[in-house]
Amino acid sequence: MAQVKVTKAIGKVEMATRLVAFDTTSRNSNLALIEFIRDYLDDYGVKSELVRDPTMPKANLYATIGAQDRGGILLSGHTDVVPVDDQDWHSDPFALVEKDDRLYGRGSADMKGFIATVLSLVPVLVQRKLREPIHLSFSYDEEIGCVGVRTLIAELVKRPNKPRLAIVGEPTEMQVGVGHKGKRSMRCHVHGHEAHSSLTHKGVNAVETAAELVAHLKKMARKKRTDGPFDPAFDPPYTTIHTGIIAGGTAVNIVPRECRFDFEMRYLPEDDPSAIADEVKRYAATLMPEMQAVSEDAGIAFEETNGVPALSAKESDEVVRLALALSGANGTGKVSFATEGGLYQQAGIPTVICGPGSIEQAHKPDEFIELDQVRQCEMFIDRLIERVKR
Ligand SMILES: [Zn+2]
Repeated sequence: MAQVKVTKAIGKVEMATRLVAFDTTSRNSNLALIEFIRDYLDDYGVKSELVRDPTMPKANLYATIGAQDRGGILLSGHTDVVPVDDQDWHSDPFALVEKDDRLYGRGSADMKGFIATVLSLVPVLVQRKLREPIHLSFSYDEEIGCVGVRTLIAELVKRPNKPRLAIVGEPTEMQVGVGHKGKRSMRCHVHGHEAHSSLTHKGVNAVETAAELVAHLKKMARKKRTDGPFDPAFDPPYTTIHTGIIAGGTAVNIVPRECRFDFEMRYLPEDDPSAIADEVKRYAATLMPEMQAVSEDAGIAFEETNGVPALSAKESDEVVRLALALSGANGTGKVSFATEGGLYQQAGIPTVICGPGSIEQAHKPDEFIELDQVRQCEMFIDRLIERVKR
């Protein structure tokens, strides 16, 4: 057992203040925050493992409190936050303000309030001899597509003491989220053939081809909306497809050679994103003969830029029953946003989403978390400790 230093406990609001003060917008390094957490845990004799990004100064932190030789319950959160650029804040987003029983600051709800609550209970966690360990996972780059946690999960699945269950503390107002949609983002490159705009028949117009593809995606999206599949627990209750970015062409008097667009699907757990991708690829193939009749170089290429699998836990799963018992919630729900939970589930770790604060306040100016939510989260973890102590 490592030497435990006598340190002054840091309360949850004080801890949230410290965490919010680190500007961990996804474009920045999160190492200062991670090192702060590592040092804090170290003060209580808890060893952290830093799983670093291979190219950027970023890391996931993973720590186990209690028995080291078996699986246990994972409490998971991300350390990065979305940008405050062009948002109209009434206070400094990185200086937590306590006002009207709320804590205001970037990340207060999503999701430093959760991490702060967990960390403030570490002194209690280490005092109790935990029969079943509690693992902590604090990741990076979640907001840009659950990027960071993947390397950590790849490590964990190899271990005999990988977490048995996971609770992702994304803001659900402490309700138990048993499902979310999956997300897949794709980029399409249309390579056409340049020509003088008076000679359109000698060119392959990449912008027009892209427009046909985008219109086809829109048609597919309409079909999902009218024909389903449907799951009324989601808003909206069907798979959505949308194009978010398009760029192409150089001048109105040049037949454009290049066009590129990004589209995204948010799919129900029962829907198949590959089938959607295949459908648009099949349509693209029908456009090819006309293009290649003009230029053999012309073509359409697709690449997957990001994907997060859907989460779908069953009411009968142990992790669902556990989260219901700990939260006191009387039912489960599904959330509209994608989380790392889909990746944990895919790695064979049954997962639910349950955390303080509301997604309504996340990503917005004057983001806040109700202090009552923080207290409820504290009670949730207290009850968890009661369950897993010897
Ligand atoms: Zn989040």
